[in-house]
Amino acid sequence: MKNDVALHHPDAQGQLMAHAIDACVHCGFCLPACPTYQLLGDEMDSPRGRIILMKEVLEGELPLFEAAAHLDRCLGCVGCVTACPSGVPYGELITSFRGWAEPQRERPVIQKIVRAGVLTMLPRPGLFRAAAVMGKFAKPLSPLLPQVLRAPLDLLPGSLEATQPSPAFTPAQGLKRGRVAFLVGCAQQVLTPNFNAATLRVLSRNGVEVVVPEAQGCCGAAAMHTGARALALAQARRNLGAFDPGDSSMSGVDAVISNAAGCGAGLMEYPMLLAGEGAADETRAAALAGKVRDVSVYLAELGSLEPFMPTSRPITVAYHDACHLAHAQGVKAEPRELIRSIPGVTLAEVKQGDLCCGSAGTYNIEQPELAGQLGDLKARNVIATGADYVVSGNVGCHTQLQSHLARLGSPIRVLHTIELLDLAYRGEL
Ligand code: SF4
Ligand code: SF4
Repeated sequence: MKNDVALHHPDAQGQLMAHAIDACVHCGFCLPACPTYQLLGDEMDSPRGRIILMKEVLEGELPLFEAAAHLDRCLGCVGCVTACPSGVPYGELITSFRGWAEPQRERPVIQKIVRAGVLTMLPRPGLFRAAAVMGKFAKPLSPLLPQVLRAPLDLLPGSLEATQPSPAFTPAQGLKRGRVAFLVGCAQQVLTPNFNAATLRVLSRNGVEVVVPEAQGCCGAAAMHTGARALALAQARRNLGAFDPGDSSMSGVDAVISNAAGCGAGLMEYPMLLAGEGAADETRAAALAGKVRDVSVYLAELGSLEPFMPTSRPITVAYHDACHLAHAQGVKAEPRELIRSIPGVTLAEVKQGDLCCGSAGTYNIEQPELAGQLGDLKARNVIATGADYVVSGNVGCHTQLQSHLARLGSPIRVLHTIELLDLAYRGEL
């Protein structure tokens, strides 16, 4: 699509946006893949429509406030990127656009407070945990509160598991086959602490030693995708330091491992985020992004895994594709391979599996109605598989599935892929 975006925005982020808009040929193949287009049936709530809206806003032809509602409804799930035959990097476009647009947005004060609160608490597990405990007591008041306050309260779990801090070093068991650095994530340390503990156990059992650089912090994905660019840059720079190959703890590291699809994808987006921020940062960002692997990919590439114990009875496991694993990282085969390798497990596919579950970072908080409709649809499709378990590789999907399956009275147990492998090793399936 011809555009003058780079003339109006000659910086590196402007170039990225101009390139993405230029690549779109209006074919519309992405429309059926877009969850909001499926729900709302409005061209302006489709990828193609949003690309035109962003082009017009960036060229100064359309006021930002007129496009804002349609752009805010975008989940950033990048299902459209997988569907697009022309390779339009829609994810780069919407992320760069939000980073440019957010400082100009006029939002109600209460919305600003909730946004700032979420971005302040999420990266700080101690603070997030304290807020979650306090929120539990405020939950009964939820129906009396405005929607903007009700959504985050409704998402808080009824109870929190005990913390399971990740040690700075976990040795390999038996013959050492690899050494990795591990990104521990933020929200999952509070909401699903067993994800990290299971990851360390499974890696160690397969001869992989794991270091957890102490200086690491939030990957910055939540800030990046909500347009809080300055915060995202600060968080990215912190991790570029923490995972610097020159640091002694990083010596001999084969890969930087993430077990959260959104966080892994966030690290892989650093080259886009840091474009135009100087050659040194750009080089470091490219180096780190090139080392990032989802834990399922690392294990599948490692191969010859320690054998799993057979299940006590035949079980069916449904696999839910987290958008930031399937669409953003292109990882679909590896988790399925791992699940199928457990003796006694049958893998079930979920109907409309490419469609986002509605979690999508802070979407559940900012667009609770659409998020709820997508969560309900996903839970019903999971139930239709008749599975005993549903597994995914992302904390946001996990909590979304858990809450919608529980609401529908389903007994299907929700696990992370790595927890399933861990249970198989323990003979607890
Ligand atoms: S990122 Fe997801 S919601 Fe946004 S336009 Fe693409 S498919 Fe639609
Ligand atoms: S499929 Fe790709 S090229 Fe076609 S309209 Fe969608 S984004 Fe544009």
